[in-house]
Amino acid sequence: MPRTQHATIAIIGAGIGGLSAAAALRRVGWNVVVYEQATQFTRLGAGIQIGCNAMQVLRVLGLEARLRAEAFYPRSWNNRDWRTGEVKFDMIFGKSAEEKFGAPYLLAHRGDLHATLASIVPASCLRLGHKLAGLDQTGDRVRLTFANADKAEADGVIGADGVHSTVKSILFGDSELNFTGKVAYRTTYPSRLISGCNVDGCTKWWGEDRHIVIYPVKPDRSEIYFVTSQPEPDFRVESWSCEGDVKTLRAAFEGFHSEVQRVLEACPAVHKWALVDRDPLDRWADGNVTLLGDSCHPMTPYMAQGAAMAIEDAAVLSRFLEGAEPDGLALAFRSFEAARKERTTRVQLTSRTNTWLKDRTDADWVYGYNAYTVPLAFAGP
Ligand SMILES: Cc1cc2nc3c(=O)[nH]c(=O)nc-3n(C[C@H](O)[C@H](O)[C@H](O)COP(=O)(O)OP(=O)(O)OC[C@H]3O[C@@H](n4cnc5c(N)ncnc54)[C@H](O)[C@@H]3O)c2cc1C
Repeated sequence: MPRTQHATIAIIGAGIGGLSAAAALRRVGWNVVVYEQATQFTRLGAGIQIGCNAMQVLRVLGLEARLRAEAFYPRSWNNRDWRTGEVKFDMIFGKSAEEKFGAPYLLAHRGDLHATLASIVPASCLRLGHKLAGLDQTGDRVRLTFANADKAEADGVIGADGVHSTVKSILFGDSELNFTGKVAYRTTYPSRLISGCNVDGCTKWWGEDRHIVIYPVKPDRSEIYFVTSQPEPDFRVESWSCEGDVKTLRAAFEGFHSEVQRVLEACPAVHKWALVDRDPLDRWADGNVTLLGDSCHPMTPYMAQGAAMAIEDAAVLSRFLEGAEPDGLALAFRSFEAARKERTTRVQLTSRTNTWLKDRTDADWVYGYNAYTVPLAFAGP
C-alpha cells in the first residue's frame, strides 16, 4: 500500500487498457481517477478474443467467472482455405489448452468485456466527458487540463488513450500512423438470422489478399461476430460509428466458402474501420507519465492480441507500483517500459505479417505468458 494516503494516479482513457490499469492499481492500493473523453459507454458491435494470457490477468482481477458465463468457450481457432474449406491449421483451445496455458481462451462481445472491467472500477473513480487537452510536469506533480476547461493534478499519469494518444503526442511528438491499406468490416448479430449453417466455433477463412474471422460471442451461440480484412487503400477512417456497405462487403467475398456466404447474406448492417499500426516507439515513459496499451504499441488485429497486451501491461505496471511511494513513480514507469517492450514489439511485428496460425505455429510464447508471475526487475538508474 502506498504510505502517502492521497497519492493519486490519473489514467487517461477508459478503454480496455485504462480500465484494466485502474482495476490492477486499485488492487495494490493506489487511488486512481480515470478521465474519458466519451460522455457515456456504448456497446459497440464487435467481438473480442480473450487469449489465455489475458485471462490470467482477468482471473486475478476476479473476473473469470463472469466472463466464462458471458463468453463463448471455443474448441479451437480453426484456419481454413477461403474456397475449398480445407483445414490449414487447427489451433486447439478448450480444456487441453486451458490445462497447458493455465487459463481459458474465450470469445466475448467487446461490450461484455468492457462492462465486466467497468464493474470493478467504482463510478466515483470515473470522469466521463473529460478529453485531455494538456499535460504539464512541474516538480513532483502532473497538471492536466481538459477540453471542457476542467483542471486536475496527480502524482502520476498513465496515457491509455489509444492509437491517437494525446499523451503520446505531448510527451514524444506526433508521428505518422502506418495505414495498412486494409479495412475491417465487422458486426455482431443474432445467429438465428443465418439459414443453412451453424456457426459453432471460431474460423479464420484465409483468402489471397483478404480474410474473414467468424465466431460466436455468447455461450449459447445466440450472437455471432465477424471481422474481415480486405484491401481498400483509399479508406482511412478509424471510427466505431462509420458504417460500411453490406453489398460492397458481400461482393468482396464472392467465391468464398458457402459458410462465409451465408454469414454475409444474413448480416443486417456492418461497421467499417481502417487498419493501422505503428512501428515500435523508442520510449513510453517520461518522468511521472507513461503510456500503456494502444497508445504505445498499436498493432494490426491479426493475432487478436492488442487488448491482451494492454491487459498484460496493466498487471505488470501494478507489480512495479505495489508498495511504491509517489517519488518512486518515475522508476516504476521506466521499469515497466523496460519489462514490457520486447514482448509487445514482438507481438506488434508478428501481427503485422498476418501469418499467425495460418500454418502450424508455436503459440506457447503468446498464450503461455502470465503477467502476474513473469520475473520482473527494476530498471537501473
Ligand atoms: C478490428 C479489430 C479487431 C480486434 N480484435 C481484437 C481481439 O480479438 N483481441 C484483442 O486482444 N485485441 C483486439 N483488437 C485490438 C484492441 O481493440 C485494442 O488493442 C484495444 O482496444 C486497445 O485498448 P486501449 O485501452 O489501449 O485503447 P482504446 O480501446 O482505443 O481506448 C482508448 C480510450 O481513450 C479514450 N481517449 C482517447 N483520447 C482521449 C483523450 N484525449 N482524453 C480522454 N480520453 C481519451 C477513448 O475514447 C477510448 O475510450 C482488435 C482491434 C481491431 C481494430
